[in-house]
Amino acid sequence: MDFALTEEQSAIFDMAHAFGQEQIAPFARKWEADGTIPKDLWPQVGALGFGGLYVSEDGGGSGLGRLDATLVFEALSMACPSVAAFLSIHNMCAKMLDMFGDDALKERIMPDVLSLNTVLSYCLTEPGSGSDAAALKTRAERTNEGYTLNGTKAFISGGGYSDAYVCMVRTGQDGPKGISTVYVEDGTPGLSFGALEKKMGWLSQPTAQVQFDDCKIPAGNLVGHEGDGFKYAMMGLDGGRLNISACSLGAAQTALNMTLQYMSERKAFGQSIDQFQGLQFRLADMEIELQAARTFLRQAAWKLDTGAPDATKFCAMAKKFVTETGSKVVDQCLQLHGGYGYLADYGIEKLVRDLRVHQILEGTNEIMRVIVARYMLANR
Ligand SMILES: Cc1cc2nc3c(=O)[nH]c(=O)nc-3n(C[C@H](O)[C@H](O)[C@H](O)COP(=O)(O)OP(=O)(O)OC[C@H]3O[C@@H](n4cnc5c(N)ncnc54)[C@H](O)[C@@H]3O)c2cc1C
Repeated sequence: MDFALTEEQSAIFDMAHAFGQEQIAPFARKWEADGTIPKDLWPQVGALGFGGLYVSEDGGGSGLGRLDATLVFEALSMACPSVAAFLSIHNMCAKMLDMFGDDALKERIMPDVLSLNTVLSYCLTEPGSGSDAAALKTRAERTNEGYTLNGTKAFISGGGYSDAYVCMVRTGQDGPKGISTVYVEDGTPGLSFGALEKKMGWLSQPTAQVQFDDCKIPAGNLVGHEGDGFKYAMMGLDGGRLNISACSLGAAQTALNMTLQYMSERKAFGQSIDQFQGLQFRLADMEIELQAARTFLRQAAWKLDTGAPDATKFCAMAKKFVTETGSKVVDQCLQLHGGYGYLADYGIEKLVRDLRVHQILEGTNEIMRVIVARYMLANR
């Protein structure tokens, strides 16, 4: 067993970290105030090979493993978890298209997907179905030319912003086997968006409903086979869960680094506050918890990379543990900043707000427990 990163993995982390510190961190608060990430950031991210992190090299992607990808998200989220998490969603879609799209579709769309000239959104959730995603109702009726879509997707990260939408829609019977995946380009007649959602964190990412009203797409925009869409959507999620965990981890590490520094500068009762042993113990606890989270996350990623039969269980366990640890750590960091932690200028309150949603999306942390318990009961 070897817990060390390879030289290549360290180089990947360093490259992503340097890019984040130079091109994202200085602007993160402005983008949050603007409620959007400038579109011209994405081709720069694409130039690093981050538009198709685990798309095969044959398919023009970077061909990285899941563990490698977590390093990218951990490093980028040290600059801004909202931007990093948005890139994770694009990568989840890119991988689905690479694995299941037919050659004609891939030839047409993948070059721009990989260069991030086409930014992708993932559309599974609907107003009436979130955790119970297989109950989705958006319909795609087969026509001579392709499909006509009717329905609404809710909470879509990048809704009204992205260039294309990877959508799970119902083409057949009720339940998971009646679901297919389709690719819908921005500008398609019948595709429209709800108002921007006002939310707690992830403010630089636009979130909106995606609506289909007799939205016609060509038959070639079906991804893979009819009826297999739910399977594709779920396969994307194991990796998505690792990435979102990595985003919690990187942001919490930044908060802890900032807190260590702050505590050496802030004085109370005639000494710097890092001299109070009670507070030192809290620093130590955060370090222990973050290191445990990192090790657990990387083990889960390794399970997914090596095709371990319990990879899904480990991804779910890691997602629950790491996202909750991340939120706990940033909250503690805010506390150790006193009143200043509550002020936007110190950068900690943004992390508290940004990380909260990681316990809700990519499957809520209750659903993560459902997955873990199901494995335990089935294998006792
Ligand atoms: C900012 C943001 C961005 C998002 N981006 C996207 C996106 O890009 N694409 C997308 O498709 N979706 C997206 N989502 C949606 C997200 O995935 C859902 O909100 C999430 O899956 C939960 O669904 P729900 O909100 O309908 O809650 P519900 O499913 O209604 O759950 C309500 C509560 O009940 C609990 N619960 C439900 N079922 C069970 C059960 N069986 N056992 C125990 N507890 C249960 C849940 O854990 C939760 O606490 C986003 C959400 C947010 C907030």
